[in-house]
Amino acid sequence: AKNAGRETYRFFASAMNDEVVVRTRLEAEIRAGIAAEEFFLLYQPRYDTHTMRIKGVEALLRWRHPTRGLVSPAEFISLAEETGLIIPLGAWVLRTACQAATNWDDIGVSVNVSPAQFRGADFVATVRDVLAASGLSPHRLELELTEGVLLEDTDRAGRILHGLKELGVLLSMDDFGTGYSSLGYLKNFPFDAIKIDQRFIADLQPTGDARAIVQAVLGLGRALGLSVTAEGVETPEQLMLLRMDNCSELQGYLMSMPVSGAEISALIEPQRVR
Ligand code: C2E
Ligand code: CA
Ligand code: CA
Ligand code: CA
Repeated sequence: AKNAGRETYRFFASAMNDEVVVRTRLEAEIRAGIAAEEFFLLYQPRYDTHTMRIKGVEALLRWRHPTRGLVSPAEFISLAEETGLIIPLGAWVLRTACQAATNWDDIGVSVNVSPAQFRGADFVATVRDVLAASGLSPHRLELELTEGVLLEDTDRAGRILHGLKELGVLLSMDDFGTGYSSLGYLKNFPFDAIKIDQRFIADLQPTGDARAIVQAVLGLGRALGLSVTAEGVETPEQLMLLRMDNCSELQGYLMSMPVSGAEISALIEPQRVR
């Protein structure tokens, strides 16, 4: 996140060298962008490893900036978090993703939740309202959280997680393996799934550390009854190894890039049960 932040400033610093000016301007642009509906979502499918059916999609935020063109989340999420703008933006993502998912019978939709959004006032109420307004069954919504949400005020974080579980939504631990205390968190909090960080998948070879780590995470998932998704699957060899090791679900450019909601409808049409 530190790096992403620096990238943000460099990206927007083209004509200026004063970081405060750059940040203030970017903040104003995000605010205006929300009002001008410049943000949109792409959806990346997540596949059952053995049947290769689409089990769900992950909503990924994009910004079509009037002059800078398409801006990726790495370039603005960290500032949106620091300024609190992630709260309205994140609520918009939740609303839009749940609404879209009502067009796709059966499959799930995963939404990334930033620490500031999670800790903000009434996150549980926001999720409850979005579910009610969209009519989406709660079990079809999965919230992807990073360890950052659990770092401070663990008791309060636990209460929020349990409040979310009471709504019936699924919780997954994103970027697993990149933080510090993942093991304790998985044992103590009500997670349903783990997403293995793509850096381990990128390094995956038949022998070596990455495979050992992936196998250990898969064993942990089995022991704790958690579904495990590998993200960033790019090669047939990675796919083969993850299949051999019984990883539950796969996501990555090998199967599909993030695509529009209309493209998701077309992708799942052949697997519909009539
Ligand atoms: P993430 O949650 O770990 O999302 C996965 C990222 O990996 C996405 O990048 C996705 O496009 C990319 N990806 C998928 N398959 C592959 C692959 O095979 N190879 C490689 N190299 N990359 C792959 P994206 O869309 O740029 O998003 C980056 C990060 O921004 C996300 O990481 C997430 O942390 C954050 N983000 C995206 N949308 C939202 C949002 O709506 N809210 C919040 N709070 N954060 C978001
Ligand atoms: Ca994610
Ligand atoms: Ca991730
Ligand atoms: Ca990430």
